[in-house]
Amino acid sequence: MLYLNGQFVRPEDAKISALDRGCLFGDGVYEVIPVYSRHPFRLDEHIARLDASLASIGLANPHTAAEWAGLIREVVRRQDYDDQSVYLHVTRGNAGERDFPFPEGVAPTVLINPARLVTPSAAQKAAGVRAISHADFRWLRCDIKSLNLLPTVLLREAARRQGCAECVMFRDGMLSEGAASNVFVVKDGVIACPPKSHLILPGITYDLVIELAQRHGVPLQVRPVSEAEVRSADELWMTSSTKEVLAIVELDGVAVGDGRVGPLAQRMDALYQDFKNQIMRQGKE
Ligand code: PMP
Repeated sequence: MLYLNGQFVRPEDAKISALDRGCLFGDGVYEVIPVYSRHPFRLDEHIARLDASLASIGLANPHTAAEWAGLIREVVRRQDYDDQSVYLHVTRGNAGERDFPFPEGVAPTVLINPARLVTPSAAQKAAGVRAISHADFRWLRCDIKSLNLLPTVLLREAARRQGCAECVMFRDGMLSEGAASNVFVVKDGVIACPPKSHLILPGITYDLVIELAQRHGVPLQVRPVSEAEVRSADELWMTSSTKEVLAIVELDGVAVGDGRVGPLAQRMDALYQDFKNQIMRQGKE
């Protein structure tokens, strides 16, 4: 069962208008919330990020934080599997015509669509993944989790065609992020990642990795990272709610470091897994 505009319906019964502005313009924002043992992880933070995305596109939030939490928990409850990836989006609704300016008095479209949570396999974690790189040709508001995902579609397809899992992006000689992940580098035992700005999505996993590093005394710097640093890094990782901490062992066909999953990727992933089992699965955060 998924949730669409006030009702819980089967996916095959979920219908929206062909003139929904989400369809016509990608005029909306979204979230993806990982759920472990039926506990949504950092739900308040996801709802706050959704609220920030909505505010940035001038779309009134149709629900209070408490209402969102209630709806999401209800969707989670209605599935027959425990670990979930809850996708939700809010669009500017169906204005009945194709006109760019905001329509007046139109109800937003709210969709909450859960799926089974698929995280990298143990084999993938142990071997790491390959990535390509590309110029970051997205817009200058990458902090908004916008439904306009054509760049992500094109870059992830280019990666897939080359047997790669992600595309690492650079803008003006600096690392921004992955097509659908944040990116960290390691050099001489020190982790570094770009600061939050309008050029990257403020990842919930990014926040957690930084917190875990600080809590466990692992050296980590939040600072601009150059393309040259990425290309000469000892380790390179991607982080996201579904990929967790996943090492990139080859970039554009060139080995990263010694081409194997590095010690800090292993350490941070171990800390992440411990946190997941002891905190997230118990619904403690
Ligand atoms: N950057 C981009 C562009 C993304 O699409 C994502 C995942 N949706 C992330 C970073 C990671 O965010 P999170 O850790 O909240 O999944």
